[in-house]
Amino acid sequence: MSINPIVTPIHAQSLSFNHVDSAEVLVAQYGAPLMVLDCDVVRQQYRALQQALPNVDLHYALKPLPHPAVVSALLAEGAYFDLATNGEVDLVNSVGVPSDRTIQTHPIKRVSDIQYALEYGCCVFVVDNINEIDKFVAFKDDVELLVRVSFPNADVLADLSKKFGCKPEHAVALINHAHNLGIRVKGLSFHVGSQTRSGDKYATAISRCADIIEQVTEAGLPALNTLDIGGGFPVQYTADVLPINIFCAPIRDALAQLPDTVRVIAEPGRFIVAPAVTNIASVMGQAERNGKTWYYLDDGIYGSFSGLMFDEAKYQTTSVKQSDELFPAVLAGPTCDSIDVISENIMLPKLNNGDLIVSTMMGAYCSCTATDFNFFKRAEMVVVNEHAFSESAVSA
Ligand SMILES: *Cc1c(COP(=O)(O)O)cnc(C)c1O
Repeated sequence: MSINPIVTPIHAQSLSFNHVDSAEVLVAQYGAPLMVLDCDVVRQQYRALQQALPNVDLHYALKPLPHPAVVSALLAEGAYFDLATNGEVDLVNSVGVPSDRTIQTHPIKRVSDIQYALEYGCCVFVVDNINEIDKFVAFKDDVELLVRVSFPNADVLADLSKKFGCKPEHAVALINHAHNLGIRVKGLSFHVGSQTRSGDKYATAISRCADIIEQVTEAGLPALNTLDIGGGFPVQYTADVLPINIFCAPIRDALAQLPDTVRVIAEPGRFIVAPAVTNIASVMGQAERNGKTWYYLDDGIYGSFSGLMFDEAKYQTTSVKQSDELFPAVLAGPTCDSIDVISENIMLPKLNNGDLIVSTMMGAYCSCTATDFNFFKRAEMVVVNEHAFSESAVSA
């Protein structure tokens, strides 16, 4: 099957991007290595999560893939945004995101970071300790806070509960502290950790937060009206990950127990973007070593595959050239460092220099953590399907 890969970041196009068929055309046009971002997949992921969590306002966390095309595709879908840094404020601002669709969720900020977000118009912030709450005294008439609560989660790719969040039993005291300073706390947030295995982690955290919401009212403090259930929704790097709708079933059940005065929001990052980006690298050279062919690619651990180090994610890698005859091979990155190996043990056809290697599921925590180590340039990001089909049909 051959698909005409009309690829332009500028014009509205609708096509189904097929990475293997399109790889050679794209590399002929843009060179290698490439990261191909398919905004149709971004939209599909957003809609799938919105369907699995109806009545939850999804705030895309920019951290895994801070790209303007992702932001504008999601804005058109009606999404909200979760920001953590001034650079992320700049990005949503440049795309024209209304500031009331954003929250700033970094639990530890400089006063200048708070001012920066406020100048843009973002006025919801996350705190998890007294030192941080005290920074908001100067801004108390302009801000609303969420208190981040920590729920340990050993069973996760990245357990964030050690680094951020107050103990659940300390939440009411923190809210009371803010109240005494005249600072409005409007709700709670948590983040169970990235690529979570089971929705039960959220369900437990939600019911614990429901208790805190009740205690706050019982203590005579202003009622909390917001619960932020964070990110962490898993993607199917491997077959043992639950489909999102099934994964979210216990979350839906737990949310149904909350009072309906509570607005529920979430901060998905990885789930929205991981399947939306495909890497295309090319073979720079090759050598036979210890019975295996080593293929040296123009992208590696210090580039787009940085997630293999930082994120422990699993990507699906294959060659564009297909053959029934496969040989044991090693895929190495371009730098002169020995750890720069993408795959120690992969079966591939006999490849020539210049042949292409395609890896999928590379949208989250890949290009954002890439480096220019050894002066190997990062893969360029090419955007396909930037505008939704219906939009382009209307404008055509
Ligand atoms: C990183 C992060 C997210 C996104 O997490 P994913 O696992 O990518 O969904 C959401 N919220 C906060 C506060 C984060 O730090």
